[in-house]
Amino acid sequence: MADATYDSNNIFAKILRGEIPSHRVYEDDAVLAFMDVMPQGPGHTLVVPKAPSRNLLDADPTTLGPLFAIVQKVARAVKKTFGADGVTVMQFNEPASGQTVYHLHVHIIPRFEGVPLKPHSGQMEKPEILAENAGKIRAALSN
Ligand code: AMP
Repeated sequence: MADATYDSNNIFAKILRGEIPSHRVYEDDAVLAFMDVMPQGPGHTLVVPKAPSRNLLDADPTTLGPLFAIVQKVARAVKKTFGADGVTVMQFNEPASGQTVYHLHVHIIPRFEGVPLKPHSGQMEKPEILAENAGKIRAALSN
């Protein structure tokens, strides 16, 4: 089988180009973070590098340092914002692993003792809730 390649029409590439809306919480030259529209818990945030790669397997290693520096920054901010007990950080590679959007991304999900994750790519959250949560995370990141 030929190696799977990057498709620049994937939904996160469109978000990066501003072609479709997102609830953004952080942006710099290399990285964008925004709310997952089907959160597995309140405050579920995605962090993506701006450089195109399908997933971790084909990524240029130089994109990973800046990406994970922001994963840590956002993980700290969501933990504080939502008063979480912990934070799950997840990243999927290829369909067999559960990947559904083929632009490298890292999931950050606040966790609470005894509360299971909601299903992956489950129910769409109300835009006003996503906007409110994004605002809270942006505020925590600016402190
Ligand atoms: P993965 O299975 O790791 O590829 O997960 C893709 C994630 O993207 C899922 O958690 C979806 O809920 C989320 N998602 C899909 N479309 C959008 C979108 N337009 N904006 C934000 N998150 C999205």
